[in-house]
Amino acid sequence: MESTLSARDRVGVQDFLLLENYTSEAAFIENLRRRYKENLIYTYIGSVLVSVNPYKELEIYSKQHMERYRGVNFYEISPHIFALADNSYRAVRTERRDQCILISGESGAGKTEASKKILQYYTTMCPTRHNTHYIRERLLQSNPVLEAFGNAKTLRNDNSSRFGKYMDVQFDYKGAPIGGHIINYLLEKSRVVHQNHGERSFHIFYQLLESGDNSLLTRLGLQKTNPQHYHYLVKVCVCVNLKVYFSFVCFCERTFELLKVVASVLHLGNMQFGVDEFEETHVTTDTQLKYLAELLGVAGSALSEALTHKKLVAKGEEMISPLNLDQVLSARDALAKAIYGRTFTWLVQKINQSLVYYTSKCSSVIGLLDIYGFEVFQQNSFEQFCINYCNEKLQQLFIELTLKSEQEEYEAEGIGWETVEYFNNKIICDLVEEKFRGIIAILDEECLRPGDASDITFLEKLEDTLGGHAHFVTHKLANGKTRKAVGREEFRLLHYAGEVNYNVTGFLDKNNDLLYRNLKEVMCQSGNQIVKQCFHPDELIDQRRPETAATQFKLSLAGLMDILILKEPSYMRCIKPNNGKQPGQFEEVLIRHQVKYLGLMENLRVRRAGFAYRRSFEAFLQRYKPLCPDTWPNWRGQLLDGVSTLVKHLNYKPEEYRLGRTKIFIRFPKTLFLTEDALEIRK
Ligand code: ADP
Ligand code: MG
Repeated sequence: MESTLSARDRVGVQDFLLLENYTSEAAFIENLRRRYKENLIYTYIGSVLVSVNPYKELEIYSKQHMERYRGVNFYEISPHIFALADNSYRAVRTERRDQCILISGESGAGKTEASKKILQYYTTMCPTRHNTHYIRERLLQSNPVLEAFGNAKTLRNDNSSRFGKYMDVQFDYKGAPIGGHIINYLLEKSRVVHQNHGERSFHIFYQLLESGDNSLLTRLGLQKTNPQHYHYLVKVCVCVNLKVYFSFVCFCERTFELLKVVASVLHLGNMQFGVDEFEETHVTTDTQLKYLAELLGVAGSALSEALTHKKLVAKGEEMISPLNLDQVLSARDALAKAIYGRTFTWLVQKINQSLVYYTSKCSSVIGLLDIYGFEVFQQNSFEQFCINYCNEKLQQLFIELTLKSEQEEYEAEGIGWETVEYFNNKIICDLVEEKFRGIIAILDEECLRPGDASDITFLEKLEDTLGGHAHFVTHKLANGKTRKAVGREEFRLLHYAGEVNYNVTGFLDKNNDLLYRNLKEVMCQSGNQIVKQCFHPDELIDQRRPETAATQFKLSLAGLMDILILKEPSYMRCIKPNNGKQPGQFEEVLIRHQVKYLGLMENLRVRRAGFAYRRSFEAFLQRYKPLCPDTWPNWRGQLLDGVSTLVKHLNYKPEEYRLGRTKIFIRFPKTLFLTEDALEIRK
């Protein structure tokens, strides 16, 4: 433990619970800064691990480091992601209790790297079972494959995950990893057709163009040129040097079919259309159409017809009407997004099939959640709304699981009730997801309503229904005046972590996520085995309206909560220290913002509301027994009596500590520091 006075001044405390001034944000950030300067990127808040992205390779992830953390308690050694990984693993081994590790933080904070390190820890340190070697390989390999299809260069992160991911690592009764299962959430598929300035589309497109050999590219009708040649891709000056992972052959025997789908999306982007004298829109790029038809295994004429017309079924009758140029372009983009998004989901299914190990039974699992953190931009849209809603749900879970367990621990230890005050964000979750009058319900209603429904009528409905809600605000004030901080096309939510303004423009379209029926029909007839599996004819028979994007997301989050609530959680909160992706730069304003949005101060306050520190009698005695002649070298009686003797000898005052059934609870950090210092002096 880094505990002597001088060391504490230099490197700070390794657990924020030990901060004297634990309510001070300045003290919190100063502690982070000191540690970061010393390359100590990890710090605890009790059992929560906080990390600051070093933006440089640190020599702390080797196999030797992994071994150092095996079987060791948190406080005996400096904080580390391996400690968190090992802690969960031990619970799986000794108690057979399912675990989950929840990683959050904003884009570029280090979530995905952390989840990879945890996976490496398990695949390196856990015992191997006969014949499970290939499963380990696949567990590790699933990452680069998913990253190729689901990650992209953004302004914030050169390798930004554009989807949420939950991965179960399955262990058998001997603690060997024997399988896995991945669930993906909300891929940002709009990136396929549009990227902001300075950003790129998904890695796979560039990897294919840069690393595919000429014969492959020719078969796909592609040219090895500047990506700029493809309208769906933009030129970026900084080229990310990414290895091509065509090694996923082991996941799917259909690599070529998969690449055909990828290429078809590029061809779709290069389709052009003209308007003739009858004002009808038609395809003008016949070569693109030909390639597209071949790659997708559909009839070119059917495809061009479906791209330029809309088919509606009303009262059993089919009606076909031509689309104008704008509509055609958006139908084309919708098709590209649908093909890519569904293929991504298909890929996840394939990976999952490859991670099933049949000959041994899974005894317990450790789930890893790597999901988008709170997002607050200059302009916030539907995507941020979904992402921030997701974070509210995770906060709910955190409250359910940690605060409840805090109280349960006091009770179980018989040390009396200690009330812990906290803000329960259920009110905000309800605001978003409640039936009939929640924001999603109102959005869905506007999406269904024929006639003049628009983003603005949606906003008006929100105002009418939720105007008086304590966490919902628009520009209208009750006295008829306007609130300047909220735009006319915005609503503001007062999230548990702070305020966010959302611009409603595009909410209806994004929530509808419509793909015209005739395009679906053509895709269902595809000769490409992957496309065929992605577009099932049942979809055409089903008369019900497909779930909207927001409702789908809401349902998948509810499913995630059901999975997580049954597990014992560990938390990791990642912080991005600067926007320049630079090592050693600690930008205070940026970090303060994240400390706030990650809810770290609240976290600390709640954890300190009762007792700063707790340890099992055994661990406490083991560590401090040299400080008392009666307990040194060994205490022979009951553990409780040993601890009691020890703390009396150390002069602990009654208000400083409480003895439970199996643990000692220490109220103030200072008590522990003095004891640690005594230990240090003795050495
Ligand atoms: P997130 O998933 O939170 O968006 P990433 O995990 O992709 O962020 O991290 C962004 C980048 O930061 C990585 O590509 C890597 O360069 C760097 N990085 C993150 N964590 C570490 C770490 N522990 N050590 C070194 N570099 C890291
Ligand atoms: Mg990521």
